[in-house]
Amino acid sequence: MFKNFKSVERCVIGKGAFGQLDEILSKRRNTSEDYIVFIVDKVFENGLTNIKSRVPSKNNDIVIWADVNDHEPTTEQVDEIRDSILAQKKNQLPAGVVGIGGGSVMDIAKATSLMLCNEGSSQLYQGLNLVKKPGVWHCGVPTIAGTGAEVSMTAVLTGPTKKLGLKCDWTIFDQIVLDPELVADVPTDQWFYTGMDSYIHCVESLTGTLNNEFSRAFGEKALILCQEVYMKDGLTQLERDEKLMIASYMGGLSLTYSEVGVCHALSYGLSYVFGYRHGIANCIAFDVLEDYYGSYVDEFRAMIKKHNVTLPKNLAKTWTEAEIQKMVDITIALEHMWNHAVGKDWKQKVTREQIAALFRRM
Ligand code: NAD
Ligand code: ZN
Repeated sequence: MFKNFKSVERCVIGKGAFGQLDEILSKRRNTSEDYIVFIVDKVFENGLTNIKSRVPSKNNDIVIWADVNDHEPTTEQVDEIRDSILAQKKNQLPAGVVGIGGGSVMDIAKATSLMLCNEGSSQLYQGLNLVKKPGVWHCGVPTIAGTGAEVSMTAVLTGPTKKLGLKCDWTIFDQIVLDPELVADVPTDQWFYTGMDSYIHCVESLTGTLNNEFSRAFGEKALILCQEVYMKDGLTQLERDEKLMIASYMGGLSLTYSEVGVCHALSYGLSYVFGYRHGIANCIAFDVLEDYYGSYVDEFRAMIKKHNVTLPKNLAKTWTEAEIQKMVDITIALEHMWNHAVGKDWKQKVTREQIAALFRRM
């Protein structure tokens, strides 16, 4: 069976594109009752990047400042947002949900859109195609680039028992607005870690067994853009951010018809057991993967050096054997990633002990 994938329906791209959001939303506002929910990263509440004053909200709208600084999005957080919207508006649904932020806030916006139309807790819907009804119209506005969450069919949430996405066609944004100016104030380390997610998506997509002409077309170009962003001299920050935004988008599309690989498998273990954010967890894992990704790991280390990023080291010293084995459990269960990275016979080639040894080098 070939994947029959759905894409984001509409997209505006360019410096200043955020200014067009008001006009885009005006098409959703057909009666005086229609309202829009804006879910905005709390980091902008105090005026950073001038985003707060430019959110095109009207009197009837709801603006929610989502805190994603201490933790990645949770099912509880999404349930609370949904309940508070419906309580404020006496169960009248919004005409749209707009998420303005990084992968975390975009995932909250996607999940909120779905949960406004599906009963019970969002934990019930963590998995593939478990959502029963389409959500309300939703729009993503990234303020940090790399995850590809703006084009993906999943909204990753941490629930009481698992970290897993609400994954279905209805999760995909109806509209995205890619404005590189919004990335201006991301701290360097975070800009690097999230951007490396895109670089690693490309490397993993291109080097695995499922790669094909479609995934290569997007992955090869996105990889070049990442290399320019992190290695080329003489670019302005805005030029870098514009390239990275497109790399994030295209890297995400490359994965649509391919898969991530060993780095993401290890990274999920790190995030689950120690709560590392996706971008930094990927970087910690990629740094020990010369055997799988060869010269790409050398290039990654050169990028780290060039941008003076300090990657946490010697982490394994404080890890117990039980914690390492738990990470191996999570990593090895991601069979589709191993299958893509190593091939169908990966179980004959990769052992638990080899995976544990990789964790011990972190
Ligand atoms: P993020 O959204 O978690 O944000 C990281 C930090 O940067 C936060 O503290 C945030 O407040 C801050 N920030 C965001 N934009 C900023 C700006 N313009 N200026 C200053 N600070 C800013 O970061 P991310 O790496 O984009 O997203 C990671 C999340 O995305 C994880 O929760 C991960 O699970 C999820 N993810 C989702 C997908 C998907 O396909 N849905 C793919 C990969 C990762
Ligand atoms: Zn990723």
